[in-house]
Amino acid sequence: GKGAAMVTAVAYRLTDQARQIQETLAEFRLSKSQLLEVKKRMRVEIERGLKKESHKEATVKMLPTFVRSTPDGTENGDFLALDLGGTNFRVLLVKIRSGKRRTVEMHNKIYAIPIEVMQGTGEELFDHIVHCISDFLDYMGMKSARLPLGFTFSFPCHQTSLDAGILVTWTKGFKATDCEGEDVVELLREAIKRKEEFELDVVAIVNDTVGTMMTCAYEEPTCEVGLIAGTGSNACYMEEMRNIEIVDGTEGRMCVNMEWGAFGDNGCLDDIRTKYDQAVDENSLNEGKQRYEKMCSGMYLGEIVRQILIDLTKRGFLFRGQISETLKTRGIFETKFLSQIESDRLALLQVRAILQQLGLDSTCDDSIIVKEVCGTVSRRAAQICGAGMAAVVDKIRENRGLDHLDITVGVDGTLYKLHPHFSRIFHQTVKELAPKCEVNFLLSEDGSGKGAALITAVGCRQRELDAQ
Ligand code: BGC
Ligand code: MG
Repeated sequence: GKGAAMVTAVAYRLTDQARQIQETLAEFRLSKSQLLEVKKRMRVEIERGLKKESHKEATVKMLPTFVRSTPDGTENGDFLALDLGGTNFRVLLVKIRSGKRRTVEMHNKIYAIPIEVMQGTGEELFDHIVHCISDFLDYMGMKSARLPLGFTFSFPCHQTSLDAGILVTWTKGFKATDCEGEDVVELLREAIKRKEEFELDVVAIVNDTVGTMMTCAYEEPTCEVGLIAGTGSNACYMEEMRNIEIVDGTEGRMCVNMEWGAFGDNGCLDDIRTKYDQAVDENSLNEGKQRYEKMCSGMYLGEIVRQILIDLTKRGFLFRGQISETLKTRGIFETKFLSQIESDRLALLQVRAILQQLGLDSTCDDSIIVKEVCGTVSRRAAQICGAGMAAVVDKIRENRGLDHLDITVGVDGTLYKLHPHFSRIFHQTVKELAPKCEVNFLLSEDGSGKGAALITAVGCRQRELDAQ
């Protein structure tokens, strides 16, 4: 009778709803052939970045770093290191000792960089950095030491030497004025002068990927690739000098900072980008830029999730159709929340508790859907990141004319380290898409700081040789 008809209607509404949700998520589920296509396109962009005639227009910039070898264990001395551009800003003192028992001792302090400073004037930003260095030197009692300094600056820089880097563009949450197009090392030196409190010798500017590769290579010489899967996304690797057309010389190798986050900025990923990816881009500080990064790094995954949840709510599939103020808030789903929501050990009740904490009132069904949305978005992130890495290791293999390559990738970043599934899916994808490579992954401990110090040590030694 009537009751049965109603039950059927409700059941129909539910299955229709489930079908529509699955249709929405289907766009994020990439097939192997789509991933192979991503790998292939990354390879094309790599070549364009390396070639002289296409470098200017290339989106994947393939920036020379002037790091020509990985550490050999003879690095020695006391160094200061700065780490700017990740989740935290840190100042470090790194003591490296060579010899039979190699040791690296580190002291560091974390400082907050307020949003007003990240997005204020360049002068304010660099004055703040120098203020933090000053505090650190006081804390360590080393104000008068005039130490050599390595500056890990995790943004794209056009380098003409180890100690010169022109900021190409800000990425992630930074947008300080008057820095793009300027030599960041000069901006730091000027700020140190303005302070008139201490002297430092800025020896190297280092991308975080390069610092990570160097740190891991110090322990494991087969490490010739660096990867960051954190707030941002990027990789570096040892490329043959003969292939780096914008640097003179054909002998040996040089580490190239790929800046792969900009992959897709010429539209080459448009067929796999969804309307949610577009919304995230439009809401960002750098519209149209870093499109690949916006699909696979920690700063944006939560935003993609939020855009999907808003849409599903509008369509009446979630949160009783009510879009709360919380759901309208940018940046609510940080990597740590996504990681918690996707944790296998977590009962759905706990997922609800997390959503509650965020100010989202959910039913049991809601929490199932939210968890599935998170899982789908982070899986795609790990897969396209893996497709990028597959392109890199296969390129290295071909460079060396090998049928089979054994290589180690040094990795850092909150997404890789904290997320319960990202690293596994990423590894699996690299394996599937680059079957001729045996890739080992090595987690870097404190990669940025230690790596900057190692590069600074090499830079100091080179200077002494040049002076002779
Ligand atoms: C920057 C890279 C950096 C990466 C990871 C990106 O936004 O452009 O230089 O290596 O984030 O921190
Ligand atoms: Mg970092």
